Amino acid sequence: MKNLVILGSTGSIGVQALEVAEQAGYRVIGLAAARRADVLEQQIRQYQPAVAVLYDERAAADLRVRVADMPVRVLSGLEGLCELAALPQADMVLNAVVGMVGLRPTLAAIHAGKDVALANKETLVAGGAFVMDALARAKVKLLPVDSEHSAIFQCLQGCPPKDRALKRIILTASGGPFFGKSAQELQTVTRADALRHPNWSMGQKITIDSATMMNKGLELIEARWLFDLPPEQIDVVVHRESIIHSLVEYDDNAVLAQLGVPDMRVPIQYALTYPDRVPSPVKQLRLEDWAKLTFYPMDNEVFPAVELARHSLAMGGLYPAALNAVNEVAVDAFLHDKIPFTAIVSLVSAGLQESLPAPRSVEDVFAADAQMRAWARDAIDNLK
Ligand code: NAD
Ligand code: MG
Repeated sequence: MKNLVILGSTGSIGVQALEVAEQAGYRVIGLAAARRADVLEQQIRQYQPAVAVLYDERAAADLRVRVADMPVRVLSGLEGLCELAALPQADMVLNAVVGMVGLRPTLAAIHAGKDVALANKETLVAGGAFVMDALARAKVKLLPVDSEHSAIFQCLQGCPPKDRALKRIILTASGGPFFGKSAQELQTVTRADALRHPNWSMGQKITIDSATMMNKGLELIEARWLFDLPPEQIDVVVHRESIIHSLVEYDDNAVLAQLGVPDMRVPIQYALTYPDRVPSPVKQLRLEDWAKLTFYPMDNEVFPAVELARHSLAMGGLYPAALNAVNEVAVDAFLHDKIPFTAIVSLVSAGLQESLPAPRSVEDVFAADAQMRAWARDAIDNLK
């Protein structure tokens, strides 16, 4: 058995990771979440980790009392997350927290020589260059958990990276709950409408990102870093059924795809067992149950988020971090009924007009993140 740390263990990805960890050959030695002491207590009793972290100090104090009868060390804050990510006994860190808060723990894990299974896409969007740089120095693996990136990673197996004769990769997008709607119809959609994803049950932030299509924009940037590809070699196609998880096209126009029922436990498990495969609790794909798979071009007029992400990559430097920061603040405001749905992407677009310096170190990413969050909060106040 190898030792696994899960950051974000109470979330959608975290809970599914706990379901497959043992089958994948892992003992869970560390768990972390934001503030739910009751849920983390249950997980601690079930999995008996050596260390647990709640980001929120008061929730961590509550947790300490709850698990006083157990041999678990309870830490808190960003420091606690980073200490857990670098735990000497850990072999693999699964980062499944949501948002920029995941960046320092990812870097801490890499610097400590841990392999990282990454679900936390926001941090690759914001700090991709610095994460890939740290990775190259540390000689550890970064394994994609996002289903599209796992699909591409799987399709690239057997192809030496330097000579992979790769023409392009094609990310599939479900189109989300608002596929086919007009720009005018989008103006009146509600929070409840946006939270109703057709194919996946996920955390609220990524569900809203899927409704705006910003999720696919973030994934385009994520793919740029994970696979070291220029954005021109990354395409997006809408595939409503989410059975084909993404595709790779080679120089001879052969196209490889990875298919399966939409269930994150497959990509999570593959990140943990790579390069091996082990049996999974996930349902088998029976193509005859589906009869028809459908594909459409992206509607970039109604859903400009993917093009905005492309634009931020072209601007380079801190602009993808700015796109992410404004998006995180805007999604949170939408979830609290402070702004209409269409304001999310409008705010991101306006944020990219701000002027940002060229980054010299990862600290500049954190500074730009803070600056653009403040900018977004002001912009939201001015909307009222
Ligand atoms: P979620 O909201 O269900 O869970 C987030 C987890 O992170 C929770 O355990 C929460 O307690 C923890 N967390 C949040 N803030 C924290 C903080 N400050 N400190 C410590 N822990 C904190 O989200 P999710 O849907 O599981 O998504 C997690 C990440 O995985 C996101 O980056 C998302 O984009 C990515 N992802 C998710 C899916 C999916 O199917 N859910 C698919 C692909 C990628
Ligand atoms: Mg995805």
